[in-house]
Amino acid sequence: MSTTILTLPSVLFLAAHACRLGSPGGAVFWLIAGFLAVAPVPWKNWALAGLLAFGAWLWGDVTLALVQQRMALGLPWMRLAAILGAISLLSLTASLMNGHRAYANKKSGCPVQGLAFLLSVAGLAIARQKTSLDIILLDRFYPSGGWIVVILLGCYAAWTAGKMLQPGNSARWRRIIWTIFSVVFFLQLLLGQLGFERFLMTGSLHLPIPALIAAGPLYRGDGFFMLILFAVTLVLVGPAWCSHLCYIGAWDNLAATCKPRAGTLPGWTKTSRWLICLAVLAAALLLGRSGLPVSLAITVAAVFGLAGVGIMLFWSRRTGMMTHCTSYCPMGLLANIFGTINPWRIRMQSECCACGICSRYCRYGALSARDIEGRHAGLNCTLCGDCIIACPHGHLHYRFPGLSDNTARSAFIVVIVALHAIFLGVARL
Ligand code: SF4
Ligand code: SF4
Ligand code: SF4
Repeated sequence: MSTTILTLPSVLFLAAHACRLGSPGGAVFWLIAGFLAVAPVPWKNWALAGLLAFGAWLWGDVTLALVQQRMALGLPWMRLAAILGAISLLSLTASLMNGHRAYANKKSGCPVQGLAFLLSVAGLAIARQKTSLDIILLDRFYPSGGWIVVILLGCYAAWTAGKMLQPGNSARWRRIIWTIFSVVFFLQLLLGQLGFERFLMTGSLHLPIPALIAAGPLYRGDGFFMLILFAVTLVLVGPAWCSHLCYIGAWDNLAATCKPRAGTLPGWTKTSRWLICLAVLAAALLLGRSGLPVSLAITVAAVFGLAGVGIMLFWSRRTGMMTHCTSYCPMGLLANIFGTINPWRIRMQSECCACGICSRYCRYGALSARDIEGRHAGLNCTLCGDCIIACPHGHLHYRFPGLSDNTARSAFIVVIVALHAIFLGVARL
């Protein structure tokens, strides 16, 4: 109760400060934080500890700036410093009390949900503040409304992390959230195409073909935003872009899951994906330097994208495998190769009896008989995690150096769910 008594005035002061700065959206952000304080949400103390620590820092910063201003003008400043310092202290105390309660109540899942909330709120807030265009959609319709989206997506991340934590349901929820992201992404693209340009990233239209993430900059010599975003996810979660975050991969996943169990990929796809990747990158370079009309490059890209959809419809559906992603899309190969810079892996315990059950659940073809024999997932692995619950003996786990199996899985969920929430807020063409 005492924690709530300190938390409520702290968030109200912060809401009032946002109003004073002319940010009604910011005020609503803090009011929603206040609502969290009284809501029956188990992870709220983790979230509030972080938010109020930021609030205390904010007040400290404001105090310093105003005191310096007053000193420069030769005005009295002690009373102002005492009042604002006390408010900052109030926020800090409320943060510490929430932190203490969070630590005392280490109920299963709460830290993961609270951290997913904080990471997504921090990521979205930084993206909002550091980009020159209104990257959060609501800001384009209602200035400062982006702050409301930031905290709501934080709550969504905490809720999603709770779902993903349930081992028996994680595969299902991965598919659900991945599909939600794709639907939101393409809905914005559709609205952009219908003439509502505010739903596009820059107001100009690009083709939604993942191969263009690498081929586009090679062709144009600029436009590195998506490539940088892709590289950042490789650093944070390795190849998991291709199992949680890609707007087209979700389609291949839907096509493959038409079959209840995974089949096998033909052996030649191992070679074909390298050849396709090299051909796409070389074609982008050549077309960019050849002086041929842009319309030709657009046609080639569109045909490549449509052929990919055809592969999903006719091949992934029949084999139950992510055929488009593992055999055709160049970004899948690049994610697999460069994703190895990230230390997250799937660990297969030496006690594995090579029963092969897990391979029926791996739609990326990363658990072939040879992979199982070698006791490690193959290059195609995208850290989707579906095989972990499939092993009846519990011999498969996420692995991260220095972390226990459970902590590695929890940490992975925190990062991937936060990235998913951030992508929902900012990713559009
Ligand atoms: S392989 Fe390509 S289409 Fe599939 S998830 Fe990765 S980037 Fe997306
Ligand atoms: S299901 Fe488990 S025991 Fe069987 S091959 Fe896979 S990891 Fe080994
Ligand atoms: S090995 Fe496991 S985690 Fe890796 S892609 Fe296959 S099912 Fe997913």
